[in-house]
Amino acid sequence: MLARVWPIHGAMSLHGPPASQFEDDQPAKSASVDPLSFATRRPKSLPGASELHVCASCGSDLVYPTDWAPADERSWAVGRRCPDCEWVGSGVYSQEIVDRFDIELDRGTDMLIEDLARLTRANMEEEIDRFISALYADHILAEDF
Ligand SMILES: [Zn+2]
Repeated sequence: MLARVWPIHGAMSLHGPPASQFEDDQPAKSASVDPLSFATRRPKSLPGASELHVCASCGSDLVYPTDWAPADERSWAVGRRCPDCEWVGSGVYSQEIVDRFDIELDRGTDMLIEDLARLTRANMEEEIDRFISALYADHILAEDF
């Protein structure tokens, strides 16, 4: 899932870890984290032509760049895609607008990293609980190690 969100992160002066660093992207089957705790932290934004991370079709704030190239000295031709409604579009935008897009992409990356850390911690807590239960039930013996 993470690789799908930022497939081309790392170019166009974007910085932060590329999606390929998250190789363990298997969904947690029994994590005790409430899925709503992720969804409710990013309310949908109102569509705005100058906010490239916002979908003009559905208002999602998860739009990401699919392609870009310098259009002239102070603007970029940027292709974008919305993962929520499959909208795709492109246009030429000023450096200032693209810089704001870059900031939003970084913010999204930070949120993903926070979510990943929370999920990892929840999975570890659950694993520890199962281990303790197994110990008390004498299901784990010295021969297991
Ligand atoms: Zn959309």
